[in-house]
Order: sequence, then C-alpha cells, then structure tokens
Amino acid sequence: MDQNCIFCRIAAGTMPAKELYRDDEVVVFNDINPQAPFHALVIPVKHLATLNEAEAVDQAVLGKLMLVAKQVANAAGYPDYKVQMNCGKGAGQIVFHIHLHVLAGRMSHKEVG
Ligand code: 5GP
Ligand code: ZN
Repeated sequence: MDQNCIFCRIAAGTMPAKELYRDDEVVVFNDINPQAPFHALVIPVKHLATLNEAEAVDQAVLGKLMLVAKQVANAAGYPDYKVQMNCGKGAGQIVFHIHLHVLAGRMSHKEVG
C-alpha cells in the first residue's frame, strides 16, 4: 500500500470509484475519463508501479487480471473488447500502479495514452 498512489487508495477503499468487481487480489472500476462507452481499469491490490517491476511471484495475479477483464467485459454485455496496458511514461502511462484498460462499445482501434 502506497499512500501516495491513487489506485492503492481505491484498492483500500479510501478513495471512491465506481467499482465493478472486487476480491482480495483484484479490483475493477470505471475509468474517470472514459475513452469508450465501456472503459474499466483492472488493477491488482498489490502495488506494482509498472510491468517492469513485475516478477515471477506476480505471475498468477497478472494472469488473473486478464481473466477478470474478460469477466467484467462479458458481464457488461461485451463479447468483443480491447485490453491494453501502458508501461512507462513514454508509452502513455500516467498512473504508476499497474492496470489493464478494458475498452468496449465502439469499433475503433484507438489506443489509450
Ligand atoms: P494510464 O495512462 O496510466 O495507462 O491510464 C490511467 C487511467 O486512469 C486514465 O485513463 C485516467 O482517466 C484514469 N484515472 C486517473 N485518475 C483516476 C481516478 O482518480 N479515478 C479513476 N476511476 N480513474 C482515474
Ligand atoms: Zn499503488
């Protein structure tokens, strides 16, 4: 838990967000500035700043992010969707707590960031 990290605070429940899913390891909430009709962020509860900080011990939760992304997109009625992760400032990452973007509802190939 990094007190200065907004996504840690959302995971801890001390910062509000429109949550779509939560368990002990993964939280999903709507992006505050949606780039598509459905735009959710899938985060691990564990603070990892970027994919570059991930290690073998994180393998299971990283895989789980993908399965939860599928689950929330399907539950929202979207069998077709895009999943994206930005790694590093140069790739458009703004929030340094690892997250998957799940985008659906518009047939475009626009990327986030
Ligand atoms: P990044 O560019 O780091 O991959 O994406 C960060 C995303 O987090 C952006 O799409 C931005 O709109 C979203 N975001 C930033 N701050 C907040 C916040 O406080 N709450 C929510 N729900 N989303 C946020
Ligand atoms: Zn964090």
